[in-house]
Amino acid sequence: MILLDGKKTANDIKDEIAIEVSTLIANDRKKPHLAAILVGKNGASETYVNAKVKACKKVGFSSTLVCLDEKVPESELLAEIEKINVNKDIDGLIVQLPLPNHIDEMKVTQAISPNKDVDGFHPENIGRMVLNLPTYLPATPSGIIELISRYNIKTSGKHCVVIGRSHIVGSPISILMSRNNHIGNCTVTLTHSRSKNLKQITKTADILIVALGKAGFVTRDMIKDGVCIIDVGISRVESSVTKSGWKLLGDVDFDQVKDKCSFITPVPGGVGPMTIAMLLQNTLISAKRDIY
Ligand code: NAP
Repeated sequence: MILLDGKKTANDIKDEIAIEVSTLIANDRKKPHLAAILVGKNGASETYVNAKVKACKKVGFSSTLVCLDEKVPESELLAEIEKINVNKDIDGLIVQLPLPNHIDEMKVTQAISPNKDVDGFHPENIGRMVLNLPTYLPATPSGIIELISRYNIKTSGKHCVVIGRSHIVGSPISILMSRNNHIGNCTVTLTHSRSKNLKQITKTADILIVALGKAGFVTRDMIKDGVCIIDVGISRVESSVTKSGWKLLGDVDFDQVKDKCSFITPVPGGVGPMTIAMLLQNTLISAKRDIY
């Protein structure tokens, strides 16, 4: 079994981005600039946003963090987005999800200018992805593709089974794995909570991508020998052995499956770090005006 080391790969990508930033600056171009909007005080969201701001610093980007109150009216959030949309100094904008219930997430996603939508969630960018046109790919699926590519895993003609159909992971990765690209050309089966006989389906997977958010869901009896497993899930569970009192677990029972698969991503240290690296990559693409 080969461990797909997302932490190391993400660090390699960050080093490559940092070199590109130095080249931009040497050519009298400005630093790439990422803005993030955080609404309310959700512990996990704060952790994710802070990690993104820290990563910007590491590669030499500028960053702006706008923190808004939990009760901020939707109109005020939309006005903040518009301010950033027209700010020529800012290349990329993300709004950390989830948002409080009184705010329409889809309205917010659509308010972000497609040319600054470095999360790749805007319908225009999703449409471009489906049509295989240059675009900002959503960061988590794009991180999975990059990891598969850098470990030279063959995908053409393989059966890829995806568990979970969210807009941010399951649906886009199923599209990317079926596209006619170097990493792609799979026959894809997209499964969800209404899928019947899930075990029969997962047992036929050459590549199994798991994104449902249930710790240890995939067990040894659900996979075939030699499968490549990409575990996207992150669940925080209580632990009596860690100092913090909790630990992070993936959607796959790692210990049960590790000697049965060819490749597997660990949790933590697999897909998570790749997500941030790809967000930086999208911001660099925006700063270089490579797409729009
Ligand atoms: P989500 O929006 O909650 O969607 C979960 C999906 O799983 C849904 O499509 C649901 O089906 C499906 N599902 C639930 N129970 C199922 C079952 N028993 N069998 C088959 N499918 C089932 O999830 P998400 O936002 O994609 O996140 C999934 C996990 O990935 C979470 O743990 C999240 O924290 C993690 N995540 C990690 C990263 C990263 O950077 N590593 C990024 C994003 C998310 P229905 O559609 O039928 O309800």
